[in-house]
Amino acid sequence: MDKGTGDVDFGTACVGVDLSGGIRQDWTRAEIQALFDLPFSELLFHAQRIHRMHFDPREVQISTLLSIKTGGCPEDCGYCSQSAHFETGVKAEKLMSVDAVLAEARAAKANGAGRFCMGAAWRSPRDRDLDQVCAMVEGVKQLGLETCATLGMLTESQATRLKQAGLDYYNHNLDTSPDYYGEIISTRTYQDRLTTLEHVRAAGIHVCCGGIIGMGERREDRVGMIAALASLPAHPESVPINMLMHVPGTPLASSERLEPLEFVRTIAVARIAMPASVVRLSAGREDMSEETQALCFLAGANSIFYGPKLLTTPNPDRDRDMQLMNKLGLVPMRD
Ligand code: SF4
Repeated sequence: MDKGTGDVDFGTACVGVDLSGGIRQDWTRAEIQALFDLPFSELLFHAQRIHRMHFDPREVQISTLLSIKTGGCPEDCGYCSQSAHFETGVKAEKLMSVDAVLAEARAAKANGAGRFCMGAAWRSPRDRDLDQVCAMVEGVKQLGLETCATLGMLTESQATRLKQAGLDYYNHNLDTSPDYYGEIISTRTYQDRLTTLEHVRAAGIHVCCGGIIGMGERREDRVGMIAALASLPAHPESVPINMLMHVPGTPLASSERLEPLEFVRTIAVARIAMPASVVRLSAGREDMSEETQALCFLAGANSIFYGPKLLTTPNPDRDRDMQLMNKLGLVPMRD
């Protein structure tokens, strides 16, 4: 019996679904839909089995995220507390100094982070701002941390400069499906996102790219989002899956809350479709029960943001995270 293909005897619902755990970029929406439609226990079983083919199931990669330039963003992402289009109470601040960022990076390292992510609320960085960010990247790298940045859209030459400064990862999310994208953001296109991802990849920087669910999209949009991520020319090395944070003042503040099990299901489908990528349980953990988070780890999530804040929104505090990791027998991922 071939237990890898899913063509046989893992339950009739598995018929025809690719459960081999192999890496492929030609996933169709129909295949991703079929994964979403698996009975929950089948889906979790296969996600965990495939997870174990590529990772140590006890290990969780730990990142810390710092907002190096907060608020006043000219983009209109409907979920974001930092957009200048919405009254969210977030005040626009200047780009932090290199020294202040390095002090935060040292503290993150002391608290067990392996990667330090720097986020700036820009449509795209100006070249003089990029000089300062490059100095931050160099400094963080010298501390022995992996570096990640999210600065908005990048040109090819900006991506190359960041790579030369030592940037390991660049985060640029697809956010949602191509079809639903226009409902969430009007100031840039899906193709703009893909173009920046091409520049990042061409510069030799690892790609961190995922999306947000619970934004009022239908399941077929979640299918479309995972299909878009899994059919990029190479799978993102890191795939953050976020649950919408309902930020007062944003257009999505009153979106209907997504069922936690649908979130778990999305994590499991991401794990199966991108088997060797690190899948990050990102925003939304603050409101998640320990049981839901445990199911997410079982479904193949193997990264979290650690620290009390995610840019401007709350995140579980470190003690709570440490207790949960201890309860579940999870350990920080080795480099
Ligand atoms: S998500 Fe990023 S680009 Fe969009 S409004 Fe917020 S800070 Fe700006």
